[in-house]
Amino acid sequence: MTEMRTLKVALLGCGNVGAQVARILIDDAETLASRAGARLELSGIAVRNPDARRDVELPHELFTTDADALVKDADLVIELMGGIEPARTLILTAIRHGACVVTGNKALLAQDGPTLYEEADKAGVQLSYEAAVAGAIPILRPIRDSLSGDRITRVLGIVNGTTNFILDQMDTTGAQFTDALAEAQRLGYAEADPTADVEGHDAAAKAAILASLSFHTRFALEDVFCEGISSVTASDIAAAKDAGFVIKLLAIAEKLADPDGHGTAGVSVRVHPTLLPREHPLAAVHGAFNAVFIEAENAGELMFYGQGAGGTPTASAVLGDLVSAARRIVLGGPGRTETTTGHVPALPIDAAVTSYYIGLDVADQPGVLARIAQLFAEHGVSIEIMRQTIHRDSAAKAESAELRIVTHRASEAALAATVEAVKGLDIINSVTSVLRVEGV
Ligand code: NAP
Repeated sequence: MTEMRTLKVALLGCGNVGAQVARILIDDAETLASRAGARLELSGIAVRNPDARRDVELPHELFTTDADALVKDADLVIELMGGIEPARTLILTAIRHGACVVTGNKALLAQDGPTLYEEADKAGVQLSYEAAVAGAIPILRPIRDSLSGDRITRVLGIVNGTTNFILDQMDTTGAQFTDALAEAQRLGYAEADPTADVEGHDAAAKAAILASLSFHTRFALEDVFCEGISSVTASDIAAAKDAGFVIKLLAIAEKLADPDGHGTAGVSVRVHPTLLPREHPLAAVHGAFNAVFIEAENAGELMFYGQGAGGTPTASAVLGDLVSAARRIVLGGPGRTETTTGHVPALPIDAAVTSYYIGLDVADQPGVLARIAQLFAEHGVSIEIMRQTIHRDSAAKAESAELRIVTHRASEAALAATVEAVKGLDIINSVTSVLRVEGV
């Protein structure tokens, strides 16, 4: 029997995810070796403070602050430090020294992915990042490999657990955004500074990655339109609920045909709060869970659901990538795993085509509905649902009506022009909300 080869694995970072990866590498060494076809020897763990207490008890001699030396002597490098530097430099060093790299660093990939992918291609090594999108959920490999014989037309993802938790709290308890955020922070779902999550930046980084793989084109963070959830109010949620919708922060990547319907004009990549019919599969994703819904020409609709974060679930995705990279080293073969032959342009948000929900506070006068309907028609935006609720309970206020409109699909530009024109009508007290709708 031939002796099994040993591959040296350098781990950069030993925080939430890194500590669990180290634990599994040590505890499940035999199983991982049988799957990989090589022993995966944890050769060291680079951290800032080797003496810090860890979630997992690990041999002290593994810890080092010399990440550079560790990386140069490894066959496989797992980067779980986060941030841009020194992660970027260490990944490039690893690649140039011929190591395959596994990372969960969506911020780095969204900012400088193309450089890293090109360097990995040049060096013939694998750069894998399943953990960077939707934590434990195997989503990148299915898109890249299982669906490579199909044409993806649309991807809708709940890819940020913090915002899904907040919106779900608002939906189930009627809480305001600030109270739901405070609850998310108390339970550890949101960070002390929640900006990256609630303003949609984390989801935007993931949207760029999903769009790149789905449409075989490299999209960067600046290609992604991004709007967070901090302006979503309890009354938006209540009105949505009343109309049979739920509000979710979605990362969307969809192919749009050119205006004449010939070929593909480009890909719209965007993150924004979105109304979904309550019967849509993504509407059933509660709490901090993630899910990605894919529409493909031949496969039809697919949905992937699971834990989008957490040390142990995310470690599962990291180790899957590690075993796959190790197998490739054992069996040989080129590192290149994805194609960028799509060359489809990213479209500006004005070109996006979707349905909209518009909330209006209007004067309760005869003829109001007809004037509004006419104005929508003049701008080429057709109304699917229009509902009116009359408010007669305020003595101080003249009688007013709340109008809720759901449109058919229209371009963002046409909708924006319509809303501007509506604001100019003397019968309009205010436009209370404009939200995009998917799945109708
Ligand atoms: P974390 O808990 O903050 O851990 C970061 C680790 O990196 C720490 O051990 C830290 O060392 C080390 N580190 C940071 N900067 C360093 C430097 N300059 N030199 C040496 N070591 C350094 O992070 P995490 O939550 O595990 O996340 C790691 C990565 O996975 C991030 O890219 C994140 O976006 C991604 N990710 C995380 C999750 C999740 O659920 N947490 C899910 C998906 C993807 P010390 O301990 O000594 O300070």
